[in-house]
Amino acid sequence: MEIKVIYLPQMANFCYMVGDEATRTCGVIDPAFDPQKILDAVRDVGYTITHVINTHGHSDHTSGNAAIIEATGAQLCIHRADADQVTRLLTRVLSRFMGGKGSPKPSRELEDNDVIDIGQTSLKVIHTPGHTPGSICLYTDGHVFTGDTLFVGAVGRTDLPGGSSRMLLASVREKLYTLPGDTKVWPGHDYGPSPSSTIAVEQRTNPFT
Ligand SMILES: [Zn+2]
Ligand SMILES: [Zn+2]
Repeated sequence: MEIKVIYLPQMANFCYMVGDEATRTCGVIDPAFDPQKILDAVRDVGYTITHVINTHGHSDHTSGNAAIIEATGAQLCIHRADADQVTRLLTRVLSRFMGGKGSPKPSRELEDNDVIDIGQTSLKVIHTPGHTPGSICLYTDGHVFTGDTLFVGAVGRTDLPGGSSRMLLASVREKLYTLPGDTKVWPGHDYGPSPSSTIAVEQRTNPFT
């Protein structure tokens, strides 16, 4: 498996490519702001995008959906509880300011424990409500993509509609801190002292949890 980090400086977002080396197909997690930069980055390493996966419905993670899907025909996957949010008027309007056209309807609505197969690589869906009701993290051996649920040294805000600090802390403690300690944490924003971390380090040092 090959991971490529695509940094989107406008709101310090990280978009990730998860590539299956055997088939040269990949999933793109949270495309926004600059879809052409994402398409170019993926093409440069020789992968074809088959899946677009959103960790949640906010436009800073979804505004690139339409452009990537139009260019590639990729499937769109998002948790059932955030699925309506990506096509809502407010999200579409915000997406215009974030370099995109918003999002088509998802082709697959995800549930906890679902598995997304990208070639011979698979990503397991961990439902981690709290930042939004349909926030998810994506796990594969050794790596977890945490969206706006867990950052390096912080957690996602819970004061937006649908947010719950109680649920967010339960999600982090029960569903992320129970992963193997050496699992690499790949957050949705570059808010910490380093771009990535591990579950063990966050469990020991994250002041919010
Ligand atoms: Zn968010
Ligand atoms: Zn965000």
